[in-house]
Amino acid sequence: MTHAKHSQAMHFQARAAEKVRNPVLQRALQKAKPLFVGKRAKGMAALGEDGLEFEGLRSACVDIRNRVLADLDVWLAIFEERAKATGAEVLWARDGDEICDLVIDVARRHGVTKATKSKSMLSEEAHLNEALAAAGIRPVETDLGEYIVQLAGEAPSHIIAPAVHKTIHEVEELFAKEHGRPIETRTSADIPAMAREAREVLRQHFLSAEMGISGANFLIAETGTAVLVTNEGNGRMVTTLPKVHVVITGIEKLVPTLEDFATLMRLLPRSATGQTISNYVSLLTGTRQPGDRDGPEKTVFILVDNGRADLLGSAYQDMLRCIRCGACMNHCPVYFSLGGHAYGWVYPGPMGSVLTPLYTGIENALDLPHASTGCNQCGTVCPVRIPLPSLMHRLREAQTERGLRPWSERLWLRAWAWIARRPALYRWFARRAARYLGWLAGDEGRIQVFGLAPGWTEGRDLPVASNRTFHELYAARKRA
Ligand code: SF4
Repeated sequence: MTHAKHSQAMHFQARAAEKVRNPVLQRALQKAKPLFVGKRAKGMAALGEDGLEFEGLRSACVDIRNRVLADLDVWLAIFEERAKATGAEVLWARDGDEICDLVIDVARRHGVTKATKSKSMLSEEAHLNEALAAAGIRPVETDLGEYIVQLAGEAPSHIIAPAVHKTIHEVEELFAKEHGRPIETRTSADIPAMAREAREVLRQHFLSAEMGISGANFLIAETGTAVLVTNEGNGRMVTTLPKVHVVITGIEKLVPTLEDFATLMRLLPRSATGQTISNYVSLLTGTRQPGDRDGPEKTVFILVDNGRADLLGSAYQDMLRCIRCGACMNHCPVYFSLGGHAYGWVYPGPMGSVLTPLYTGIENALDLPHASTGCNQCGTVCPVRIPLPSLMHRLREAQTERGLRPWSERLWLRAWAWIARRPALYRWFARRAARYLGWLAGDEGRIQVFGLAPGWTEGRDLPVASNRTFHELYAARKRA
């Protein structure tokens, strides 16, 4: 187990309870949610009102990702060969510790004292910033949101909007402290000025860093290219100004051809931010050649497993199709009630509820597959049709099979399964349960204290839909 996995996703419930009661966080989240949802809806509507083009594109994207996963070893070998042919070095890391060792080794070979970074979730998996700092190399995050959370000493809380949990006042306080100036009263009209202030500080770092570290949205096998999709332009500074550029990315990020990449790009920005295309789409191939005006003298790809290979051929392989768009968390009622830090590891929201137990061990993330209302909003918006709720159910089954759930819960489930296999008995129980809940709810139709499952009524009243069962209602409707 790597050190990246030690600080991980235990005690979700305790953290969730704390986040729900944090009014500042709640304000920030309630402001952000409609923006994400509205922008995606607008972006998708532009594809056609009937949704047919979206579904057609989704199918094409699923096919591309499945094709890669079916022969991942072959595509990786092709990518390695093509990348090397462009002058890049290709290294392989099994886990977070190996990522840190490789990056530090490259840094030492090139006399690096400062590294600028453009968001790489894998460097979060590896706790790379801490390792670099311990090795005497200063890491500087340059995405605005990442810059903010680095100043705050926090982890990102969203994969495409890392500082979504912060209010403008919190950011102002951070900037004033870090940039050595008095605190000012800020409104959203001041955001461009605050971004300019961060840009001026970051410019000095762009010009003085000897190494740039980035992730990649995709790796294109046929050309040995890394693709970066960003909105701020800092990715280009990180990848072209320093003499060394290190790309850290998961082995599953491959796409076979440029044409496949173009297809995926039709859904990635729309799903993430509702944009038809992001502001900057950079295709980075090889090192600076004679006559080139910019580009690194040295390009290193670090291709990382860190649990991904184990998912190939497993019941969870679908999860490897993920293109990290963030749409699932943007539409998740649980995510927007808690924010990303409640999830305890790198990936929040529904994708994190599946990935975290898979990458860190299901025994270390017992609550996460249960952090779902089962509404399937995530599955509905996922551009590569990952059946997130089904994968969470599978993980719950695995927990139960391995005896990791509390004995009382397992007993209830056994009793439930026994009754559910006997329809007459099931209906008898359902009738009594519906009557009992109806009686408990009284005239107002809301249960205030539910002794059998106290958690359900801890923070709000539980509405009761009907004191009749589904079968009874259905039969009555057929008779009418
Ligand atoms: S699981 Fe789907 S919706 Fe969520 S980040 Fe991945 S691709 Fe996007």
